[in-house]
This record gives sequence, C-alpha cells and structure tokens, in this order.
Amino acid sequence: MNTKDKGFSTKLIHAGAFDDEFGSATVPIYQSSTFRFKSAQHGADCFSGASDGYIYTRIGNPTIRAFERNIAELENGYDGIATSSGMGAISSVYMALLGAGSHIISSDAVYGPARGVLEQDFSRFNVEASFVNTSNLDNIRKAIRPNTKVLYIETPANPTMDITDVAACAEIARAHNLILVVDNTFSSPYLQKPLDLGADAVLHSITKFINGHADIVGGVIVAKDPAIYKKIRHSMVYMGCNMDPTQAFMVLRGVKTLAIRIERAQENAMKVAEFLQSHPKVAWIKYPGLKSHPQYELACRQMNGFGSMMSFGLKGGYEAGKKLMDNVHLAILAVSLGGVETLIQHPASMTHAAVSHENKLAAGITDDLVRFSVGIESVEDIIEDLKHGLSII
Ligand SMILES: *Cc1c(COP(=O)(O)O)cnc(C)c1O
Repeated sequence: MNTKDKGFSTKLIHAGAFDDEFGSATVPIYQSSTFRFKSAQHGADCFSGASDGYIYTRIGNPTIRAFERNIAELENGYDGIATSSGMGAISSVYMALLGAGSHIISSDAVYGPARGVLEQDFSRFNVEASFVNTSNLDNIRKAIRPNTKVLYIETPANPTMDITDVAACAEIARAHNLILVVDNTFSSPYLQKPLDLGADAVLHSITKFINGHADIVGGVIVAKDPAIYKKIRHSMVYMGCNMDPTQAFMVLRGVKTLAIRIERAQENAMKVAEFLQSHPKVAWIKYPGLKSHPQYELACRQMNGFGSMMSFGLKGGYEAGKKLMDNVHLAILAVSLGGVETLIQHPASMTHAAVSHENKLAAGITDDLVRFSVGIESVEDIIEDLKHGLSII
C-alpha cells in the first residue's frame, strides 16, 4: 500500500510492508544470509545496480528493508539504513562524514559513547571534536573552524534534558556548509521530525522508543539527500554494523504501537513530573513539559509533545539518589529508556561513566542527577513507588 499521503499512525503500521506470494499480513523474517541469483547475468546486474535484487544480508535483506522504508517515511527522509545498534548508526555516520583533519561539533551532553568514540578512537585518525552546550547557539558559532564538517546534536539531550533549536542549527549548518545530524532517540519521529526542521540526517537507537519493549538492541539512520544516504550506507555495509533480520522483525512489530505508547507514557510523565516538582525532598527537576524547564517554549515549538524522559536531583545529593534507586520496586534500576516499563538510573556512575568528571560537570551531568524513563504502567503505581522510595531517605 502507498502510505505517502496517509497519517502518521497509518504509516507506523503499513509503511514499508510488502506483499509476498503467501499473502502474509506482516513482514516475515527472511532469515537467510545469502540470496540465489536467477542467472549469472542477474547476479552481475544485482552487483552493478542494474537490478535491485537481494545479494547478501549485510548489504540488504527484505525484512530489514521493510523496516528501513518504514522509518524513512516516518522521518520524511529519502531512505533508511538499519544498523546493529544505535552506536552502529553513530559510528557509521562518523565514518562516512568525517576524515583525517576534519572537525565535528557535538552537543556536550550527548550519549556517553557517542562522545567517547570520538575522544578515544576517531582522535587516533586525526578527527577533531568540540563538545559545546548546543542549546546556546553562540557556542556553536564560536566552535566553527575552517575544517568543520559536521554539526551533531542530540535534543532533548541525554541526560540533562537540554533542548537545542534544530531549525536554528540547520540555518547555521547551511551558512557554513556543515552537515547537520540529529540524534532523535529521546523524541522519536512521533514527537519531533528533525528532517522537516532542516537537518540532513537523523539517527536513532531503536533500542529505545522505536522498538519500545526492551527486548532488542538496534539503530537506524535516515538521510534526506541521496548522496549523504549513499555515503552512510557504504560505511555501514563496509564496517559490517548491519541489522539482523530477526532484529528487524522485532522492531517492525514494536514500531506499530509507537504513537499509543508515547501518548500514554507522556501522559504518565507529566503526572510524575508534577509529583516530583512538588516533593519537598526533590531539589530540582528537568522535564520539557514543565514551565520551569529553561527551554519550555522551544520544546513547545519544535516538539509535538514532551515525551517521557526526565532528570532530577534530590536535596540529599548522590547519596540520597542512591538510596532512592535502591528503594524503588516498580521502577527497574537499569540503563536504557523508552520502553513500556519504568526505568531509573544514575548517569554519572553508569551511562556517562566513560566521560571524565570534569567534562561531565561542564556538560551539566552532576553527581546528583537521576534519570527517569516513565513507562506505561498505571501512573498511580509509579507515583506510589517514588513516594515510598523518597520516604526512606
Ligand atoms: C542508547 C542511546 C544510544 C546508543 O544506542 P545503542 O542502541 O545502545 O547502541 C545513542 N543515543 C542515545 C540518545 C541513546 O539513548
């Protein structure tokens, strides 16, 4: 079915799907590493591009293609590139768009390993990186060098919940000939469409909201322009960080309910945020849906909702946060986010442990920061769980 002019929820369920000879209602798992050519000529045509037949699963596979086409429509892009993990997506983007002597500007509060791989690995190949608070556009303008190639932002950022103006970044990128890449993991295309706001490529850890059930790891990139798409696909295929057909099947199943999951999770999140905001033991809370968030207006402008991620600190600092994490029972003490279950974690000692203490503080990742991913359980139970944990501090 052509879903191009259909609504977002229709696309979630039908975009990318195709009819097979058995009339399968869902896209089956094509668990085959390689594909039979009809003839020597057909094989040659597949390799030359004259035919679009499948060759080998690292290069392409019907189940994976269905997901890639699905997400490309959701993000309003040219095409998608599915990867083994979110880091596979990020590494493919870096590999494709950076080279010796080139420079990237990135949000300082970015997913820990997305920063770590630049500082510890790409630096060995003379790739330069600057990490700035991209919520303040002047920081970006000041960081631009003659060799800057990529502007990489994450919004809302992980875990500070800082918001960066995507359209304004696109303008800066255009003026300086930079490629703007947005990590849209925290929002998903249901809440934010960076390509519509002017970005060149968008990427996800589909491990989070897009799959939504905490049962697979995966990633994806969607590019707006065919030339950038081809570069990134080349890097993904040559580095071998492809998705697996079973992963693709799982995410095709998960993505169908993205809209209703996010609606429920953000409804819960607003109530949880209001509860935390008024609790005497809570020192501060950052949730884009609260007017107290410094970029509340920007969130209203560029997002279709406020999502279900928040961070907060307790008056008793990290020790109090540790006590809370050890005394909640419904919320699972675990990294990751965006699933149907509520998760709690401590970025300074967990997801962002690889970032130096000094850089963490500069990026606003304070020791007392607790990250909370609100699930779709009954909200009374989530609040009761927090109330109980806080009462023990
Ligand atoms: C989890 C995450 C990643 C990395 O994804 P993996 O699937 O764990 O490799 C990248 N960016 C953000 C914002 C994330 O939350």
